[in-house]
Amino acid sequence: MKQEVIELDGAIGGGQVLRSALSLSMLTGKTLRIHNIRARRARPGLLRQHLTAVQAAAQISGARVLGAELGSRALTFEPGPIRGGDYRFAIGTAGSCTLVLQTLLPALLQAPQPSRVSISGGTHNPLAPPVDFLQQAWLPPLRRMGARVELQLLRHGFVPAGGGELEAFIQPSTLQPLHLEQRGAVLGRRAWALSAGLPAHVAERELQRVAQRLDLPAEHLSSVHLEEQCGPGNVLLLAFACEHLTEVFSGFGQSSQRAESVADGAIDQARDWLDSGAAVAEHLADQLLLPMALAGGGSFTTPRMSEHLQSNIRVIEAFLPVRIDCSAHAHKGLRVEVFTSASLNGLSAQADH
Ligand code: ATP
Repeated sequence: MKQEVIELDGAIGGGQVLRSALSLSMLTGKTLRIHNIRARRARPGLLRQHLTAVQAAAQISGARVLGAELGSRALTFEPGPIRGGDYRFAIGTAGSCTLVLQTLLPALLQAPQPSRVSISGGTHNPLAPPVDFLQQAWLPPLRRMGARVELQLLRHGFVPAGGGELEAFIQPSTLQPLHLEQRGAVLGRRAWALSAGLPAHVAERELQRVAQRLDLPAEHLSSVHLEEQCGPGNVLLLAFACEHLTEVFSGFGQSSQRAESVADGAIDQARDWLDSGAAVAEHLADQLLLPMALAGGGSFTTPRMSEHLQSNIRVIEAFLPVRIDCSAHAHKGLRVEVFTSASLNGLSAQADH
């Protein structure tokens, strides 16, 4: 039988458009044809991280693929049935392991067998979710939706050296809708600074800044000095454990930036979210949307529309019979709700085609 084809213009966003489309192609059995991949980025087309996501998706779904080359701006991806199993993927650069995992995870949850997936590359990359974010902010709501997943960080990997590794264990699961309208009271706050191959004062100054600006007592601050060979690398992380979810914010050290301003980056994001009163901050918002759409329902409040959220809505609506409504919430915020316009019950059956 001829597969349905979904045509996408990749210029509506960046790598996430491709990754979400790959997940959805595997899950629906629909062929993906995408052009203009990352067209508005400084280095357009497939970088190593995106190419690894394509190759990994092809492997777990036995897909036929055209255009899977570095720099390619067009791709055709024709998936077969999703198969769980023991997989090992190497990005080969410091490209983000977490983004590759996020491409595969929704599909592997629907596989008939459990999976163990190991991915090597960067685990703490600017402009991508750090492993800690997946463990503390993204996976807990997914588990509440029914996802049976464990994630371990085996080795840290920073840009530019890479060399990190994560490992995920995924059991076949059925997702249920989740509503995250309020975060509830803040029950705990914590800051930790990871550094490798850098002087101790970098982490100390970042934590001092957090203590000062967020009024965090010393027992809630810690610095973790990693082996020099993981470096150079530095990230400051802030976690807010609330009644209904945990949020994690990060600031990545760069050689041209003062430690205080690295900390300020994470603190400003956290304050923006705290002041907004919304449940879910910007990054978690765009990353929860696909699982909610696959569950056939869900909602959250978030401070504002982002480019990632906007483009993800378009990709999801292109593949699935869902409607995603965005309406004003409180004085400035946004409420996002996923509705099923038809039953998604046939989804796993289609994934077995
Ligand atoms: P590109 O170079 O094309 O922009 P990319 O493949 O690196 O692409 P994006 O399309 O920008 O990826 O998607 C990045 C994803 O990482 C988004 O889901 C975004 O919300 C998430 N993200 C970015 N920074 C953080 C952070 N500090 N914490 C958690 N998630 C993050």
